[in-house]
Amino acid sequence: MNIKPEEITSIIKKEIERYEKKIETVDSGTIIQIGDGVSRVYGLDDCMEGEMLEFPNGVYGMALNLEQDNVGCVLLGSEEGIKEGDIVKRTGKVVEVPVGEELIGRVVNSLGTPIDGKGPIKADAMRAIEFPAPGVIDRQSVKEPLQTGIKAIDSMVPIGKGQRELIIGDRQTGKTAITLDAILNQKGKDVVCIYVAIGQKQSTVAHIVNSLEEMGALDYTIVVASTASETAPLQFLAPYAGCSMGEYFMYKGKDVLIIYDDLSKHAVAYRTMSLLLRRPPGREAYPGDVFYIHSRLLERAAKLSEKLGGGSLTALPIIETLAGDVTAYIPTNVISITDGQIFLESELFYSGQRPAINAGISVSRVGGNAQIKAMKQVSGTLRIELAQYRELAAFAQFGSDLDKEAMKRLEKGKRLIEILKQDQYKPMPVEQQIIMLYAGVNNYLMDIEVPKIRKFEREFLEYIDTHYREISREILEKKELTEDLKNKLNKAIAEFKKNFLA
Ligand code: ATP
Ligand code: MG
Repeated sequence: MNIKPEEITSIIKKEIERYEKKIETVDSGTIIQIGDGVSRVYGLDDCMEGEMLEFPNGVYGMALNLEQDNVGCVLLGSEEGIKEGDIVKRTGKVVEVPVGEELIGRVVNSLGTPIDGKGPIKADAMRAIEFPAPGVIDRQSVKEPLQTGIKAIDSMVPIGKGQRELIIGDRQTGKTAITLDAILNQKGKDVVCIYVAIGQKQSTVAHIVNSLEEMGALDYTIVVASTASETAPLQFLAPYAGCSMGEYFMYKGKDVLIIYDDLSKHAVAYRTMSLLLRRPPGREAYPGDVFYIHSRLLERAAKLSEKLGGGSLTALPIIETLAGDVTAYIPTNVISITDGQIFLESELFYSGQRPAINAGISVSRVGGNAQIKAMKQVSGTLRIELAQYRELAAFAQFGSDLDKEAMKRLEKGKRLIEILKQDQYKPMPVEQQIIMLYAGVNNYLMDIEVPKIRKFEREFLEYIDTHYREISREILEKKELTEDLKNKLNKAIAEFKKNFLA
């Protein structure tokens, strides 16, 4: 055989040139303590805050306490089979969830894993669950209405796209019902809805998902559920995961409505987690940064500037109070972060006024700018008239004699309250709300008996729909009650009343 040394040296030279040192380094540490869903790991020197850590049996954890000689982390799964001395690997990633169109219509857990048995989700992308809120320059003021379809809300505590409105009240006062109606009312309006259930019973969540599906609202809704049976860290992550899924659509220029049901349980989950991590407890045993967990979450709701696409994320957080006490720690925190609150009262709820909104102490600090003019025209005096009614009603309880003027106000108030009552799952389009409130505020219902008001409403709106459809259309087009429209409305009311009273 003829060996050519030049050939061999050239090959060796090439190989040397091509040689690359590939050393894979995996940062790892050892567990020095594990239990109650938290663990301390020694040796993870370069670990990041919020980083995902991989535990032996495929369970992930999140690093939270970066201390001098160890890292305190919470487990995002079962700790079964994990023991002291086991190896923990860094992943170099912070906790992220899948986002995208495919999630719509699905029920997922805090990590974006589907739990509805409808198969895997092909996500468009992954997105970190924590993300800085848009800055001042990136925003514009709230200026478009987000109709909830609930008369008492759209007229007196209007909500605008990009707003954060708190829904607060005792247990079983219809908090969830309001948010579900708001979701229902977004049908066909090109708004993506996200319902985040935190620490609720599985049966409750199942019921909500069923209701949404039955009403056809699941077609544009994502449900993120972390039920009471899940560990505190997973419950803690749920709202951030939901928010990330919403942000994805917001930054694409879409409108998103997100419900956090509820943040009281979220705070409790965070307290559990913090105490287990041995962070120092503060007021009501909540850790010092419990304000920040809610403020950084709710600040991510925004109406983006046109330059960024003009998308919006409207947040409706829910807080549960005990015996109506809104001065407790968590309620006051969240009240101060949001742009207004809707107070629900058990007393009103049980007296039959549903939705049980206390109009006196419910406010919306920015939504008024977003209301359409026609609604402003009819709701302008509504709040004051109701306040006067409440005062008079309290007075009249003592059986004192009232003059004619006061009696009239009392009667009108009763009718207005009746108009504001609304059944669950029956959101009402804004033009119908305006027509009905117009009749109420302008004393057209004074000769209808109070118990018949709701029947009047049903039949009158049907009558308008069959005989005067142009009124509804014109209200929507002009967004204003012109003299001409008012005349038409007056005529329609007079005509209908003749039949109704007869
Ligand atoms: P929880 O504290 O348990 O979360 P909640 O405040 O969210 O309760 P919901 O579950 O929304 O209250 O409502 C309590 C009950 O009241 C439900 O059975 C619901 O169907 C009923 N309800 C709510 N709103 C109305 C309404 N407008 N008209 C009639 N019933 C209603
Ligand atoms: Mg509820």
